[in-house]
Amino acid sequence: MESDVKKELLSQSPAELQAWMIAAGEPKYRADQLFPQLHRGLSPDDMTNLGKKLQQKLKESFVWHLPVVEQKLISAIDGTVKYLFGLSDGNCVESVVMRYEHGNTICISSQVGCRMGCKFCASTIGGRVRDLTAGELLGQVIAAQKDLGERISNIVMMGIGEPLDNYDNVLKFLHLVNCETGLNIGYRHISLSTCGLVDKIERLMGENLPITLSISLHAPDDETRSAIMPINNKWNVDALLDACRAYFVRTGRRISFEYTLIAGKNDSVENAQQLARVLNAKLRSRTETMPIHVNLIPVNEVSETGFRHSSKQAIAAFARVLESKGIRATVRRRLGSDINASCGQLRRAAMKDADSVGTLL
Ligand code: SAH
Repeated sequence: MESDVKKELLSQSPAELQAWMIAAGEPKYRADQLFPQLHRGLSPDDMTNLGKKLQQKLKESFVWHLPVVEQKLISAIDGTVKYLFGLSDGNCVESVVMRYEHGNTICISSQVGCRMGCKFCASTIGGRVRDLTAGELLGQVIAAQKDLGERISNIVMMGIGEPLDNYDNVLKFLHLVNCETGLNIGYRHISLSTCGLVDKIERLMGENLPITLSISLHAPDDETRSAIMPINNKWNVDALLDACRAYFVRTGRRISFEYTLIAGKNDSVENAQQLARVLNAKLRSRTETMPIHVNLIPVNEVSETGFRHSSKQAIAAFARVLESKGIRATVRRRLGSDINASCGQLRRAAMKDADSVGTLL
């Protein structure tokens, strides 16, 4: 028997929509009309070219919901736009659109909250509420594009949540967003950032998707890393870098490393030397030479964590050590600094506001 739970229209692939059309006694080409309109942000009600009967049938079988703009902040400094998006069940997530010369990049969330417990991160403070569906992952891109009236050409999965902890939905999303008749965003224009779920990195390397993988490393040794990232107790630095090497060997795609600098925790010259040593030892053997790029990010000070960002001098000294050992290091430009563009903080503020009036988000 068919389940009574309605499926989400935005999560459907072209093949699934075609199969549904055939089962519903409709011609297959109707799916080819439906899919591009959905990905432009239209609802079944808007699609008058499908005819009233089919519009009605779609509404009986599927739910349709695009994330709703609850708040929108625009940086006066660099035009970065930050959205707080409301989901159909009242939860909310954040997405940030960054304006670069080569086009618009959106940073999307992958879960409501996060269960990885990184000590410096605002997104994990209340734990993980739930995974986002493929349609909700995609919906962030569609809703932002619709709101801005401009094409979004690049995606980074660096918002709230751990994308590899929501593996199946993220994978489905990657396929959907790449569809030629939908948003048609090339895999090479998509980056996925992970705190280091080694089993999932190993699975991802078999998918044959030329996306860019970013690793949130943040420390060169187990003692320092375990103190700020609990995931390191499950897969340590050694295991993580082994997986990175295997990923590069298998896919040929370079990996970039994120390193958030926290004053007095991981930002010393010794930390930098050890980072260079370990990256060079693990990733550059006689047979493969993986280009290594480290993004240095001054930690965003989240009031609950008490961590402070490193001084300009400490950051420059850290970068110099890496460069002297043949590792490219860039200090991440902080876009949207006036709108608190780092993820998790807007959602936390909204949760606090709601708590104070006794509403559950
Ligand atoms: N869970 C994934 C993606 C989300 S976090 C991951 O861990 O990679 C995106 C990036 O922001 C990660 O590198 C994360 O460590 C970093 N980050 C989280 N909180 C931060 C903060 N307060 N300041 C600077 N970077 C932060």
